[in-house]
Amino acid sequence: MFAYDPTNIFARILRGEIPNKTVAETAHTLAFHDIRPLAPVHVLVIPKGAYVSLDHFAAEASAEELVDFHRTVAQVVAGLGLEGGFRAIANTREDGGQEVPHYHLHILGGRAMGRMVQPE
Ligand code: AMP
Repeated sequence: MFAYDPTNIFARILRGEIPNKTVAETAHTLAFHDIRPLAPVHVLVIPKGAYVSLDHFAAEASAEELVDFHRTVAQVVAGLGLEGGFRAIANTREDGGQEVPHYHLHILGGRAMGRMVQPE
């Protein structure tokens, strides 16, 4: 059901073909600054495994990968001074507005983030 395209830009970052501004790295997870930040803090947390989306990762990742990913999220939040709160976004497939087909969690903060979704 989940077909992974290894030419996507985050796969290239993981292979070291493209540089990134790393915030945290573990055996299973990489966190780095978004290249076009939409808030004072805008970090992407990605698994190193070949998962296309949040639901793919949640369904098929190992327990070790799942724990490692979320512990890294906690490390990013604590390390970047997001005590006032933050927004985590996982755009997923076409309706979700996902551009890069490798699962990534946006961590946005450093200001009040406003309403979650624009009303129709
Ligand atoms: P999404 O629309 O959820 O797929 O978001 C993809 C995100 O990846 C966007 O916020 C882009 O700014 C970000 N992005 C794309 N290329 C890079 C890159 N080389 N380094 C860091 N962030 C990137």
